[in-house]
Amino acid sequence: MKIFALFLQSAGMFILSFGVLTIFSVSGNPEAFSDSHAVSPVVIQKSLLRASAISSENTAPSPLPTPQKITIAPPQAPKCFPKTTFPTEYPQVQKTIERVSRAIPCTLLTSLQTVSVFQDDEKRFPRALSGASLLKIREDAIADPRFSDVILHEMGHIVDLGGLVGDAESGESAFKDGSQAIYKNDISLLFYSISWTNEKTRKSEVTDFDFVGGYAASDPFEDFAESFLYYIRHGNEFRLLSAKNTLIQEKYNFFKNFVFEGKEFESGKTDVNTAERPWDITKY
Ligand SMILES: [Zn+2]
Repeated sequence: MKIFALFLQSAGMFILSFGVLTIFSVSGNPEAFSDSHAVSPVVIQKSLLRASAISSENTAPSPLPTPQKITIAPPQAPKCFPKTTFPTEYPQVQKTIERVSRAIPCTLLTSLQTVSVFQDDEKRFPRALSGASLLKIREDAIADPRFSDVILHEMGHIVDLGGLVGDAESGESAFKDGSQAIYKNDISLLFYSISWTNEKTRKSEVTDFDFVGGYAASDPFEDFAESFLYYIRHGNEFRLLSAKNTLIQEKYNFFKNFVFEGKEFESGKTDVNTAERPWDITKY
């Protein structure tokens, strides 16, 4: 959930089923990334998915990708956040972030500068908010059994907004993150443009079934973060959906090739109901 977008979201959704997180050892080679993407208000409209909605799934044959074998990150796996400030009064926050981030190339996370925890007893804000350099966590979310999935969703935003960035010299694309332009050589555009013409408008032929979930269909940034989480936690299901839906296959291939350096995850269920989509991947 991006900062401010959460003002418009009702928080608190959680449920069960832990996907199996496949952890790969990732070589660390930190590079500096621009932190140019502003975090600004984005209005998100919830459009609940209905199982009876028209499906755009096609039957184009496409072989399932073969995931690499599961490997466990060694204890000496490189830390992705050598310069990040964590809240010392909540040591489990840093521990969780470092653990789940072993699944992600460190070079895509170096924009994160500050992690903080905030109190919100009335739960007016979402469980977590993030921009390129900032991650804010609602205190009660730390005890949530799906906390690591919440973190992975936010890591998706950090990869999108801080790891994959373009530069002004390339010119402005049709997409904006609030008032901040998304530049034409931003690799994330390859993902956004699968389903969107700009940050507010879907392509005309796109339906709810061309997304991994309902919240993913909110805007291209949530599409990215939810698909990112789905790729790690529900790799098996993502590949099954990909075999039936070419747009979802394009999204899968984007993450495989441009984010995870070819790594795939044998995680989640080994079957999937292609006529349904969950609302929130962090609760699925
Ligand atoms: Zn989000």
